[in-house]
Amino acid sequence: MRRLCNSALKETGQASPPFKISPLLRLAGVEWSYEDQTQDDRDAAIVFAEGGLKLAIAREKFQSGGVSKRWRFSVAHEFAHVVLIRAVGARVVDLANSSKEAYEYVERLCDYGASQILVPRTSLRQTLRQRKLSQRTVDELSDLYDVSLSVLMWSLTDLLPEGGMMFLREYRRSAQESNELRVWSVYSRYSPTLEEPWLPRGCTMKHIRVGQRPLGFEHLDARGPLPIELVLGKRVRKLEASVVPWQSRWWTSSFFDDERSDYIKASENGLLLACAATGKLDLDMFGGKK
Ligand SMILES: [Zn+2]
Repeated sequence: MRRLCNSALKETGQASPPFKISPLLRLAGVEWSYEDQTQDDRDAAIVFAEGGLKLAIAREKFQSGGVSKRWRFSVAHEFAHVVLIRAVGARVVDLANSSKEAYEYVERLCDYGASQILVPRTSLRQTLRQRKLSQRTVDELSDLYDVSLSVLMWSLTDLLPEGGMMFLREYRRSAQESNELRVWSVYSRYSPTLEEPWLPRGCTMKHIRVGQRPLGFEHLDARGPLPIELVLGKRVRKLEASVVPWQSRWWTSSFFDDERSDYIKASENGLLLACAATGKLDLDMFGGKK
C-alpha cells in the first residue's frame, strides 16, 4: 500500500506538502462529482458506475466550508480503496464484505494508505529533521500537510521503531480522583487500537517510571533520550523517550463536554512524548528544540 501510494504521488510530480488528491484521481482516471446525497451519508464514497469507478463527494460537507483536514482524509481514504481495487481487482470488494474482520482490515489499510498519501513518511522525516519535536512543530506540520492532529500522530509513530506518541495531561476523571498528570492518549502501532493503548487513558505516572520515580515535568530538562518504563500490571516495557511541553487548548470540548465536566478542573499543562525502543529514538527528528 505504501509503495503504491508513493509511486502514484511521484507520478503526479508532487514532491512537497500539502499533497493534493485531485491529481491522483485524474491520474487514476477516476471521475468525481459533488453530490447532494452520498451512500450512507458519508463524506465521500466510491461507486461503481458505467465506465468505471466514480467518486461521490458530499457537497454540503466539502463546498460549504467544511473542515478541509477532515475531508481531505476522507477523499484520500477513498482513493486508497481505488488503489487497492486496481491492484487486487474488484474481488477485494467481495472479500471486504465477507466478514467483519476482513472489512475492518481493509478499512485500516485504506486509512493507512490515506495517511501515506497526505503525509509521505520520507517527506515527514525530512521536514521533522529541519524542525525537531515541539508543540509548535506539531501545529506547523498539521497545517503544512493539511491533516488532523490524529493523522499526524499516526504518521509520526511510523518514524518511531517499536514506539509511539503519547499525550499526558493534568486532570482527573471524577471528584474522587486526584488532579495529576495522567495518560490522555496513546498512538502506537504496537497496541491494537487507539482504544486499547499500551496504557489506558487515565493512568497516572505510577505507570510511567523514570528509574524508580514517576515521570514528571522535571524531566523536561533531560538531555538526550530519557529511559522510561511503562508499567501495566506485571508487564514492563522499557523504552526511551523525548519529552516536550504541551499546552492543551482543546480541553473541555473534546472529551468531557457533558455533566461530568464540573468535576474536571484541570490545568493546561501537559507533556508530549515520542517513544521508541532503546537505542532507536532518532534525535535528529525527535530530539526536541534546542
Ligand atoms: Zn473505506
